[in-house]
Amino acid sequence: MLRALAETFVSGGEAVRLADHLIETIASLPRRSDREEIARLLQLLESRTMNLVLAGSALPFTAMSHAQRERYLGAWATSRVPLRRKAFQGLKRMATVLYYTARTPTGEPNPSWARLGYPGPLGPPPATPKRITPYSIANDGTLQCDVVVVGSGAGGGVVAGELAARGLNVVVLEKGGYYNEADFSHYEGETLSRLYDGGGLLTSEDLAMIVLQGSCLGGGTVVNYTTSFRTPDAVREEWAREHDLPHFTTAEYTRALDAVSERLGVTTEAQRPSERDVAMLRGLDSLGWHHAPLPRGVRGCPQDGQCGYCGFGCRPGAKQSTLITYLQDAYDRGARLIVDTLVRRVVVESGRAVGVEAVVRYPQGPRPFRLTVRARAVVVAGGSVHSPALLLRSGVELPALGRHLALHPGGAVFGLMPDAVRPWTGTVQAHYSDQFADLDHGYGFKFETIPVHPSLFALAVPWESRQQHADAMAQLDHTSLVAVLVRDREGGRVTVDGDGQPIISYRLSPYDARHLRRGLAEAARVLEAAGARAIWTPHMRTMGYKPDGSAAPRDAWAAALDRAGFGPNQVQLATFHQMASCRMGANARTAVVTPEHQVWGVPGLYVADASTFPTSSGVNPMLTIMAMAHRAAGAIAAGL
Ligand SMILES: Cc1cc2nc3c(=O)[nH]c(=O)nc-3n(C[C@H](O)[C@H](O)[C@H](O)COP(=O)(O)OP(=O)(O)OC[C@H]3O[C@@H](n4cnc5c(N)ncnc54)[C@H](O)[C@@H]3O)c2cc1C
Repeated sequence: MLRALAETFVSGGEAVRLADHLIETIASLPRRSDREEIARLLQLLESRTMNLVLAGSALPFTAMSHAQRERYLGAWATSRVPLRRKAFQGLKRMATVLYYTARTPTGEPNPSWARLGYPGPLGPPPATPKRITPYSIANDGTLQCDVVVVGSGAGGGVVAGELAARGLNVVVLEKGGYYNEADFSHYEGETLSRLYDGGGLLTSEDLAMIVLQGSCLGGGTVVNYTTSFRTPDAVREEWAREHDLPHFTTAEYTRALDAVSERLGVTTEAQRPSERDVAMLRGLDSLGWHHAPLPRGVRGCPQDGQCGYCGFGCRPGAKQSTLITYLQDAYDRGARLIVDTLVRRVVVESGRAVGVEAVVRYPQGPRPFRLTVRARAVVVAGGSVHSPALLLRSGVELPALGRHLALHPGGAVFGLMPDAVRPWTGTVQAHYSDQFADLDHGYGFKFETIPVHPSLFALAVPWESRQQHADAMAQLDHTSLVAVLVRDREGGRVTVDGDGQPIISYRLSPYDARHLRRGLAEAARVLEAAGARAIWTPHMRTMGYKPDGSAAPRDAWAAALDRAGFGPNQVQLATFHQMASCRMGANARTAVVTPEHQVWGVPGLYVADASTFPTSSGVNPMLTIMAMAHRAAGAIAAGL
């Protein structure tokens, strides 16, 4: 059945053993209910009765001709029934992404890349020595420490570094593995499964939102694009005023921003534009719209062709991830960093957090080990999806827990350019535009560009037939994009299933959808002004136009976008920034943590990551997370 699906979506799947990859991927999905749902779907596709009802053909899917299968799946892509669109998306995403990112069994380059003009890895990784030796667990057991930190990303890394600097005995537990420059193979499939949560296939429950987040020692800071905006003054004032958190406007918070900026070497000097940025700047200039160089947390960034591979880990070690900065500081001061270790539960005794229970699962290990860490303080920093899930699994009961999840929903407009852009190359991102950042009380959208490798392109390119998808993919090297990052006002929610796995529910509100729609329309103008020959959005059917110098084609296209809709699985959306699901606030009714990052009503339990944002930040969040974590470290140390 999976082989039949693979052959329907792409040709040549056997060369990379696509059906085997599909089986492995489905088997590795963290939620049992997702695995069961796919199994049911596959049975459904083989059912004669169901196919008679759904497609007017009493043949099992595997017995249909290729043309029949294409028609069958194509009808699901734009079905009015949300469940069919969801099923189509799930299958299309897995089949196309795995096909364009897999390695052949013999390690040869993926045969599909030649047609894309995509070179794959830029040679072998450097032989950079490992500067950290993770603390190794060889048996079930218990460790003691002052502070145990769960998660090692932007928040957890800073807390660990700052507390170790104060002489405290720190243990960091990270569910991902430890990889350094020598492991950054540039193979997209391998990178997604090693460094990204859920192998890069994590989504909201309805599959409408692709959720990209790092999961490795260093968390999101290892894979992120180095953009390091300070918390905007207007947002600081808003959080102080509307959430009763006056510290955001104080010199103390400014000092925290200064300290983390200094440690990361944040600069606007590393601004050599990629070809994507060049196109965006050309368009913005010709429209007379705002743009500026991005502040970036890098030291010695080469800003060359390889920088587009930054999302797979930075080989030159220029990206100032927590792995290179705060975690290294913590390690050098004696902190124990334990990887491949999933924290299942916070242990609360007599109302106070006293430690955590975890499972250590080394990829090559003989068996999983049970680890308990007893501590005077527990800091949860698993990110905005996993932190609320861990607190929910641990029995924390607060009305706001898991709610208000903000995602900065990201859309994009793609443009076919006259010359090669090679959108996977060049400085990862170096320029942005705030022309529409404040459309309504600080809500609006930013323009940025991001590197586009085959997986992202395979997700974006609509699938109407195997040939049409393959032909559109072949335009990758001449394609540029303008990404639209919406500051979302209405949130989603994280809950847990019966096994304690997080479930992400998120529906774009009409308010936020209006900003997204406007963003796509304005981004199209930028690409048009930049000289794009054809412009399209990642809707479920090809939605594009060819500019002719007048507004007419664009207006007709915008009207068609409205007809196609912005609902779940009608347009492809992704989130790179998850926030606010354990938000900070002045009381336990509306917030999860106090202004000092302690979980309301549970002494000894703290949260220090993006989940503590009161709302979405409107700017790429890393530096804000770090500044808040920096300040949290002071409060936690004072509490001990
Ligand atoms: C591709 C990409 C590009 C990005 N680019 C930028 C950018 O340029 N600028 C910017 O500001 N932001 C960027 N971001 C976002 C930024 O990286 C994140 O917002 C930030 O890393 C979040 O920090 P955090 O501490 O909340 O969580 P994370 O950094 O995600 O860290 C959480 C860590 O906790 C671990 N964990 C979770 N649960 C458990 C558990 N139960 N037990 C043990 N460990 C656990 C996870 O494996 C993970 O490593 C980008 C993100 C991505 C994915």
